Amino acid sequence: MSGRYDVAIVGAGVVGCAIARELSRYELRTILIEARSDLGDGVSKGNSAVLSTGADTPFGSLECKLVSRGHQRYVAEAPAMGLPIKAIGSLTVAWNNDERRIVEQLQAETVAAGFHDVVVVGADEIYRRAPHIAPGAVAAMWDPEEGIVDPFSTPYAYALDAVTNGVTFQDRSPVEKAERNGAGWHLHTPRGVVEAGIVINCGGLGAAKIEALGGFSDFVMKPRRGQFLVFDKSARTLLDVVLKPVPTPLYRGILMTPTIFGNILVGPTSEEIDDPDDWRVTQSGIDALLAAVRRLLPQLLDHEITATYCGIRPGTERPEYRIIPRPDERWLTVGGIRSTGLSGSLGIAEHVAGLVVGEMIGGRRKPSHTVVSVPSLAAGERPWLNGKAADPEHCEIMCHCEGITLGEIREAMASPLAPRSLKALKRRTRVMFGRCQGFFCGARVQALFERLSAERST
Ligand SMILES: Cc1cc2nc3c(=O)[nH]c(=O)nc-3n(C[C@H](O)[C@H](O)[C@H](O)COP(=O)(O)OP(=O)(O)OC[C@H]3O[C@@H](n4cnc5c(N)ncnc54)[C@H](O)[C@@H]3O)c2cc1C
Repeated sequence: MSGRYDVAIVGAGVVGCAIARELSRYELRTILIEARSDLGDGVSKGNSAVLSTGADTPFGSLECKLVSRGHQRYVAEAPAMGLPIKAIGSLTVAWNNDERRIVEQLQAETVAAGFHDVVVVGADEIYRRAPHIAPGAVAAMWDPEEGIVDPFSTPYAYALDAVTNGVTFQDRSPVEKAERNGAGWHLHTPRGVVEAGIVINCGGLGAAKIEALGGFSDFVMKPRRGQFLVFDKSARTLLDVVLKPVPTPLYRGILMTPTIFGNILVGPTSEEIDDPDDWRVTQSGIDALLAAVRRLLPQLLDHEITATYCGIRPGTERPEYRIIPRPDERWLTVGGIRSTGLSGSLGIAEHVAGLVVGEMIGGRRKPSHTVVSVPSLAAGERPWLNGKAADPEHCEIMCHCEGITLGEIREAMASPLAPRSLKALKRRTRVMFGRCQGFFCGARVQALFERLSAERST
């Protein structure tokens, strides 16, 4: 037995980690179970990192409500967690009169959802805010509250907060079998059996399989791959807003956006795939992205592409969140969090905690909790730039492209949620994420990672 808990959350993506943090505010014994060796290593590691207000989600839907709420909470709570936000605003650009009408409707809905500063602007304002985009834009929705965030540190900050406030994190534990047992469940993993009063399925692309373990079959997964190009930091001066096309009900389109780390990101594509593990970047994907760049921001082609990657949306056969409480079965499903889960995470967490505490298991709110913060990885916010330079370990640069010091790597490796792989260390610090992609520093960083890992386990 791994132990007896009130709540077992299966899946440590941004959604599961946010729920774990939320439940850590209650007198509940909660465990967060993850199949992989690191949190945030599923869908949550490959997205556009735009903090959406919910403007491009179906108006009146649960998704719209939770993303709006998630946005509001993220803006209020992220600074205390050390998570950077840059509220650069977004322009959803119409290139003809049909699109102009859609933009006007979107704007009215967004205002009705509570974002009163969202306006429709004409060409003069578009080119004032985004002078380098191609000619021909006729109107745009200007949403000043949309912004860019750190997609890797967000689940980490949530999980660290949760663990600090009493949640147990168990990694390398794919749930392989779920057995109903009295008033709860036994979840079988290679690292033991977890006994839990209720199960919250936050399995991302694995959500339908986890449902099946519990005997439920409300949806089927329809994964959608989205590929991206990351342009070098030299391109950053070309764009200082999130540039979006007019969305369709199924696809938000290829956007162009600065990243919080100082690059320009282009993507995602949208391709239905059969294999939820098909994380390939393809030539046709790259061609589609380059065509969009040529059409919308041609000067970007004068800059180097630093990296490509893809994400896979955990869609289902219906374009909506699949949040299904089953109080009698003591099982709560949080699936189908396709395209907005980073923005919606704190809204989803609040909603789910309300269901758990209100309808499923009860639980008193704790009188207080410990505030935890992570180091900001935003461009221009490295510790050696803001006061820690006196520490010799923060004077020794390991990764010159991103400016990561030995001190930052040591601190990441000393965390209660220390990275167990080089990829996880990249996400915690941005080491090897820069222009050379680890060509120059990779061997040295790997040796350091192995040494610090060995020191930790002795
Ligand atoms: C291309 C793309 C662009 C996007 N852009 C944005 C954006 O700009 N803004 C935004 O807000 N959102 C965006 N999103 C959406 C966002 O990334 C997702 O909604 C979010 O990451 C989903 O998180 P999750 O926790 O549900 O899933 P995941 O992150 O996949 O977490 C699920 C976890 O469950 C684990 N798991 C699965 N099966 C088991 C099992 N049997 N036992 C134990 N653990 C298991 C997995 O290993 C995984 O870690 C985008 C998504 C994509 C793909």
